[in-house]
Amino acid sequence: MRFISTRGAAPALNFEDTMLTGLARDGGLYLPEAIPGLSADEIRAMRGKSYEEIAHKVMFPYVSENFSSEDFVALIAKAYAGFGHEARAPLVQLGPNHFFLELFHGPTLAFKDFAMQLIGQLFQYALGRSGKRVTIVGATSGDTGSAAIEAFQGLSNVDVFILYPHGRVSEVQRRQMTTPTASNVHAVAVDGDFDTCQGALKDMFNDFTFRDEVALAGVNSINFARVLAQVVYYFSSAVSLGAPDRPVSFTVPTGNFGDIFAGYLAQQMGLPVEKLVIATNQNDILHRTLETREYATTGVIPSISPSMDIQVSSNFERALYYAYGQDGKAVAKEMASLKDTGKFTVSQGAYEALKYTYASGRVSEEETSAEIKRVLAETGELLCPHSAVGVKIGEAHLGATPMITLGTAHPAKFPAAVEAATGIHPPLPPRMADLFDRDERVTRISGDVEDMKALIRDRLV
Ligand SMILES: *Cc1c(COP(=O)(O)O)cnc(C)c1O
Repeated sequence: MRFISTRGAAPALNFEDTMLTGLARDGGLYLPEAIPGLSADEIRAMRGKSYEEIAHKVMFPYVSENFSSEDFVALIAKAYAGFGHEARAPLVQLGPNHFFLELFHGPTLAFKDFAMQLIGQLFQYALGRSGKRVTIVGATSGDTGSAAIEAFQGLSNVDVFILYPHGRVSEVQRRQMTTPTASNVHAVAVDGDFDTCQGALKDMFNDFTFRDEVALAGVNSINFARVLAQVVYYFSSAVSLGAPDRPVSFTVPTGNFGDIFAGYLAQQMGLPVEKLVIATNQNDILHRTLETREYATTGVIPSISPSMDIQVSSNFERALYYAYGQDGKAVAKEMASLKDTGKFTVSQGAYEALKYTYASGRVSEEETSAEIKRVLAETGELLCPHSAVGVKIGEAHLGATPMITLGTAHPAKFPAAVEAATGIHPPLPPRMADLFDRDERVTRISGDVEDMKALIRDRLV
């Protein structure tokens, strides 16, 4: 299978090169040239299968050029062995027709582990085979960073630098990034917000001299391999509610649009998904775009759901690519306008295509707290603030079709917000109970990309 860029001007690559590259050289994001389909019978046959078996069925068509079936089975098994729940992604019921998919039983307590644990295995395997070495630089609003460090620490062919916005992540998130001791991981606190970090990362990728010098690799959700790993739980959860014979809808707490875009891919592969509902906090650029056609960035306002404090939603470009009828030139034009003016207006045709697939909603800070409290009282489920944004919007979109809201992080990752809403301080799982006693190691740096490049060069020698 070949992978092509959303901007139509970068060479097509196979899966392994797509994964090791991250961002395309024309600034676009990679997508499969054609999305492989699964028949209703193949989807029906997933009933009663393990998460790992479903993962193999869903992902193998994308990777078969680079991994044998047996090797891929083994890598999937290793990726999910460290999860704290047999089902990996258990589904619980919140109320009539409303279900909650717990995606936070991985090693760092957020859904990011589903993709990161797998690509840690895939990178190690691919680099071990080729003898190559790469430098992974990641930008994080909090959860990607810890998941990447957990997945790549101690690996011999990889150095990892994680850029996070100084003072804008929760203390648990920060400690998960600054306390690992492996010498190949580097936590970097950047003066700025998440968009500063992500913008600097994109600039590094677009500086081809630097990119080639350090063999830069990206594991942000711009990396297609991450999106692919997230397609699996759309299948596993929908099948457990009767798919393909019964359609479902999903509500997804959204920031960079990676998670919900995986739901679109699941739908295009043949899963009967009726609606994909984008749930945003007060940083609501995606909701405003679906209301007004105008994608216009404003400043990020810090919230109690920090992993969604994003105004430049990278993976939305992938949704636009399909909404614009796979016209890479049209996407490149809109992205150039975004870079120059901070906004663009979605074409009428593309807007109708987006509205056909996606719905959206926005939740204020007060509503988020109130929802954590309500759901605990009514169902006993203690939600993290991101999941609460999702559940609130999911509730507003309930209809005849079962709604599955994605639970994106464990409440213990955001204890201050959860305690403020409920009076309950959610404890960390025993395996990380000493997180607050471990020493922290972090480098503070300005938001200037040249300073970041100098730091990386310096650390690599
Ligand atoms: C990353 C993250 C999100 C947003 O996911 P995207 O794929 O960026 O849309 C939501 N909630 C939590 C807890 C996260 O870590």
